[in-house]
Amino acid sequence: MGNGSKFHLVTLGCPKNEVDSEKLAGSLLSDGMEATDDLTNADLIVVNTCAFVEEAREESIETILNIDELRNEESKIVVTGCLAERYGSELQDYLPEVDRVAGFGVPVSLNKKSNVPEFDLLNLPRPAASKPWSYLKVAEGCDRACGFCSIPSFRGPQRSRDMNSILEEVDSLQVKEVVLVAQDLAAYGRDQGVGEKSIIPLVEEITQRVDWVRLLYLYPSELNQQLIDVMCSLTVPYFDLSLQHVSPSLLRKMKRWGSGDRFRDLISEIRKNSPEAVFRSNFIVGYPGETEEDQDELIDFVKEMQLDWCGFFPFSDEEDTYASGLEGKVDRALVVERLKELSSLQDAITSSKRDVLIGERISVLVDSLGVGRTYREAPEIDGIVCVPESCEVGEFADLIVKGALGPDLEADLI
Ligand code: SF4
Repeated sequence: MGNGSKFHLVTLGCPKNEVDSEKLAGSLLSDGMEATDDLTNADLIVVNTCAFVEEAREESIETILNIDELRNEESKIVVTGCLAERYGSELQDYLPEVDRVAGFGVPVSLNKKSNVPEFDLLNLPRPAASKPWSYLKVAEGCDRACGFCSIPSFRGPQRSRDMNSILEEVDSLQVKEVVLVAQDLAAYGRDQGVGEKSIIPLVEEITQRVDWVRLLYLYPSELNQQLIDVMCSLTVPYFDLSLQHVSPSLLRKMKRWGSGDRFRDLISEIRKNSPEAVFRSNFIVGYPGETEEDQDELIDFVKEMQLDWCGFFPFSDEEDTYASGLEGKVDRALVVERLKELSSLQDAITSSKRDVLIGERISVLVDSLGVGRTYREAPEIDGIVCVPESCEVGEFADLIVKGALGPDLEADLI
């Protein structure tokens, strides 16, 4: 397929997948294809899948089946992304509707002559962003071995991108905000022999090129004083700490670093540095062996630390992980109960933190007509700010907070 034929690209899963999709689109466009939003009009349909947990796998398969019902008979379906990487030929056997299964770095076009370099979507050029912000993936893979996680087994060890190629990409995106992502972001550069903390020079360079730099997925032990200083002074003071739990015994079973007390110290230290700092974290509920006491420890932590945003996820038993062989699986109904307890507690905390902002002056990046964000909200993850429609899309606006509803704010001209 080439000149004049049309492709339709569907992206599922996490921000990291969105970056891959933009690069896939870039390579198909450079092959002479045209993008179309109309599935029925496409010659090639690419589904970039997610396989992180059971629910994501089901969504990926359902999407492929729905597409098969809607597409025109001449079109071809190519499945790529995590599901393709993890299940490869098995997927092809299970879904005869699919014309090709392509793992990472394998060309998704059915044209065999495509020159996508093997295993390196990361360094492909990418079209300028259509929004005032963009994700930017700085490394692929992970060197850790968290008990619940299958990512290292199919994404492989960490491979960091060269800093110059990242900076070139920053320039080409032409955005006001760059959101840095990687499986283990603060470990960026460690595999290149360019120094333990090359995330710091990287952030310093990027902040010279864009207004806001946001860092997602920080493993807590990586956050040393130097990185905290840089984040508080140079970038938006937004700390996405990947904590997963606070009970030390459960964290050891997860093969992760830390404890509630260490996390308390870390958060307090950051707040001392920057009282304006905003925090997000994720926690897994129902990991094998989790007790009532563990849950109580987590509840106490959530109550005490008053983080701005928290996500709570049920443990998902993934094959080929350390956790799948552990005893003490927690009953589903109990997991649901614990999740509900934590979510309603956090919803109230988030709302009250938003209420406090009423009357404050804020600087908002306007993402689309009537919708923007301050540094406190990561795009597509946290709440939003409703802004007057007179605010220009793609620019910053100085506004005043007039109201709050759950996670969202309403702001007006000063
Ligand atoms: S840090 Fe842990 S949870 Fe995150 S990708 Fe690596 S192994 Fe998985």
